[in-house]
Amino acid sequence: KAKKAAASKAGASYNLALQDTDKGVVTRFPPEPSGYLHIGHLKAALLNDYFAHELYKGTLLLRFDDTNPSKEKQEFQDAIVEDLALIGIKPDKTSFTSDYFKTLHQYCIRMIEEGHAYADDTDQETMRDERMKGIASKNRDKSVEENLAILKEMKDGTAIGQKNCIRAKMSVDNPNKAMRDPVIYRCNADITHHRTGTDWKMYPTYDFACPIVDALEGVTHALRTTEYTDRNPQYQWFLDTLKLRQVHIWDFSRMNFIRTELSKRKLTKMIETGRVWGWDDPRLPTIRGVRRRGMTIPALREFILKQGPSRNIVNMDWTNFWATNKKEIDPVAPRHTAVESKDAVKATVLNGPATPYTEDKLKHPKNASIGLKKVAYSRQLILDQEDVKLFKQGEEITLMNWGNAFVRKITGSNPVTEIALELHLQGDVKKTEKKVTWLSTEGQKLVPAQAWEFDYLITKDKLEDGDNWEDFFNPESGKETDVICDCNVRELHDGDIIQLERKGYFRVDKAAKDDQPAVLFGIPTGKTK
Ligand code: ATP
Ligand code: MG
Ligand code: MG
Repeated sequence: KAKKAAASKAGASYNLALQDTDKGVVTRFPPEPSGYLHIGHLKAALLNDYFAHELYKGTLLLRFDDTNPSKEKQEFQDAIVEDLALIGIKPDKTSFTSDYFKTLHQYCIRMIEEGHAYADDTDQETMRDERMKGIASKNRDKSVEENLAILKEMKDGTAIGQKNCIRAKMSVDNPNKAMRDPVIYRCNADITHHRTGTDWKMYPTYDFACPIVDALEGVTHALRTTEYTDRNPQYQWFLDTLKLRQVHIWDFSRMNFIRTELSKRKLTKMIETGRVWGWDDPRLPTIRGVRRRGMTIPALREFILKQGPSRNIVNMDWTNFWATNKKEIDPVAPRHTAVESKDAVKATVLNGPATPYTEDKLKHPKNASIGLKKVAYSRQLILDQEDVKLFKQGEEITLMNWGNAFVRKITGSNPVTEIALELHLQGDVKKTEKKVTWLSTEGQKLVPAQAWEFDYLITKDKLEDGDNWEDFFNPESGKETDVICDCNVRELHDGDIIQLERKGYFRVDKAAKDDQPAVLFGIPTGKTK
């Protein structure tokens, strides 16, 4: 309910309504099952969901746009279904463009018979060139019979069929190049489709299938990203030429982020070449990636819905994304303590407790509902080298959540190997300059962990058209630091979000088990570096 209210509140900022909504609204989210969903797709999905379910109490369709078997897989389809469910998007119906392959084939025949389409075996390069120059293909005026015969060859995937495609007879030289006889059917003979197997040797293009299936499924409003704006007249042409039910097109802007690649083709390449760990790599902008990095679902929804009203293509900064998340996690993330393993400094508390003991303390200083943790006290502590190397002999410092202490002895320098402290609990913690984290090595079993911090994968804010992303790939986007954590970290589970005091927020990617260290991923907070 709270989730819904938040979505409504964010959604209210869409002062953009749809037209002709009196007879109900049907929207659709049409992912191609060729990769995992990323935050850009999520914008499309949430917008469709918002219009259908929040604003107009209509219907949301999920339609897999599975017209290119070379890129599509069951694995991707399953992941898309799971991720939408996770975000709380519930489509009323799920369908596949492949459900309509027979119907689309019929429409293609009809287009040919009515003189609206022709078979073309012009090679790709020439076709591109002719299209640029507004020159008609030599095949443009083939007879209906010839065209139907070639369509048959394409359907059978023969050698002749494989050389051809079918093009809509729209225009040779329309100033809008999207109108220059677009391809509507392509041969793809040797590939197995993940749903229709080897039934088909040719496949409709998105340009052809989308308007037809939208009309047939009763879509009233087709939301499309603005890079399709040039193709809107083409969409309309198909509806008019085939005398199909009209669909309103509503354009919205793509969401882009600085130093981030959102093209599925490029993300696939990063994964296939082992540059990242998989579709759920915490550095990727996929839903799984950002979740693994510690983004929460409510924050993700809120952030994306907030972006709605803008139709300008902006290159967004990650700052607000993570700041939105911080508001969500800060009030609930339990506080724990960790010390960096490398050059950790042994500290002896000269007047500390002779026998180690533990006390129950709040896991979150301002939120008792988060529960209690054990804090161990003894004469033997470890401190961070970073902190200790700034200590001066005789200085009064604060051991956080314990009290003040004087630095009595410093052994070694760069690195310091050992120090001696003398507790001064009546000292005023407000007056010390250095407040440090510490862990008792006695009275508790410490937990080793690997703490990861991640950076952008791309080193340039905005890749331009001519840029090759591989030239701007950051080879050092992940850095691991070994740390030692308080005993309570042993009880954490995969997916828990915590704060390590003075170190930041972390998501438990892998809980500690037996002697295996816990794996923690640093969660950005939106502060600029
Ligand atoms: P590609 O990597 O080939 O560009 P795609 O992003 O077009 O893939 P689809 O699965 O076809 O992938 O996209 C599903 C829906 O998400 C489409 O409606 C598409 O317009 C929308 N979409 C994709 N990327 C973004 C983005 N960055 N911002 C907003 N919407 C997006
Ligand atoms: Mg697409
Ligand atoms: Mg695309």
